[in-house]
Amino acid sequence: MLTIADHDRAAAGLRYVYPVLSRRAQGISIGINLNPNNACNWRCIYCQVPGLTRGRAPEIEMDRLEDELRGFLSRLAEDESIFTGVARDMRRVADLAISGNGEPTTASEFPQVVELLGRMRAERPALRDVQIRLITNGSLVERAPVSRGIRTLGELDGEVWFKVDAGSAAGFRRINDTRLSPQAVARRLARCASLCRTWVQSCVFRLDGAGPQSREIDEYLTLLRTAGIERLQGVLLYGLARPSMQPEAPRLSALPAGELDAIAGRIRETGLRVRVSP
Ligand code: SF4
Repeated sequence: MLTIADHDRAAAGLRYVYPVLSRRAQGISIGINLNPNNACNWRCIYCQVPGLTRGRAPEIEMDRLEDELRGFLSRLAEDESIFTGVARDMRRVADLAISGNGEPTTASEFPQVVELLGRMRAERPALRDVQIRLITNGSLVERAPVSRGIRTLGELDGEVWFKVDAGSAAGFRRINDTRLSPQAVARRLARCASLCRTWVQSCVFRLDGAGPQSREIDEYLTLLRTAGIERLQGVLLYGLARPSMQPEAPRLSALPAGELDAIAGRIRETGLRVRVSP
């Protein structure tokens, strides 16, 4: 059964496919988890993946992924009981999202997964208008197979949500526990946006009681300008929706709505659209 509260990726009892009833998307978001081993090449201090480890996605069993997806889509079409307790207007597939319990582009099969989703959507008239989306930290965008997969996603009229949580090397170390220069992130973001429609996805919160400082927001905006504001679709600005599963969890707290709105206002001054999710 589908519920808004249950974001447990094992909810459907499947390895790769996890449905989430999403109020924001006004329907069912079908997630494709390419990291069932909970491995990511980053370690964001707000990450909600339990038992997160450093690493990459395991080999993806493409036949099993396809079987799971076909099976789940058939069940949605044929088995009303799956919608028990779900409002009528939410009984639709809102999107197909490649994400997971880690960075999905670390999977060697990522380009084939994009092609598979494109095929599945083309086969089913009910999915014709369903968005295919990649949720990524963007770190591997410049690798040839990843670029190829993102280009295919662009051809499928899909979109990318590209994570940018800071604008300085110190910020990336502190928030994402990774060594990155803002120049490298801007270059990857620009590359991604040249291949497929790209939204920036940013998580903001208080760490040890302090939210992002004005200087840090300046650095973040400089990064987005370096990547090219005109290339970007906008910014999805998130608060702390669910508890962190990382050791830093007790040091994190949500930003008050007023502070989140103030940051959104600063971003809007650049001309970018901003969608805020507290
Ligand atoms: S990139 Fe995503 S999965 Fe990886 S550590 Fe950060 S929040 Fe978790």
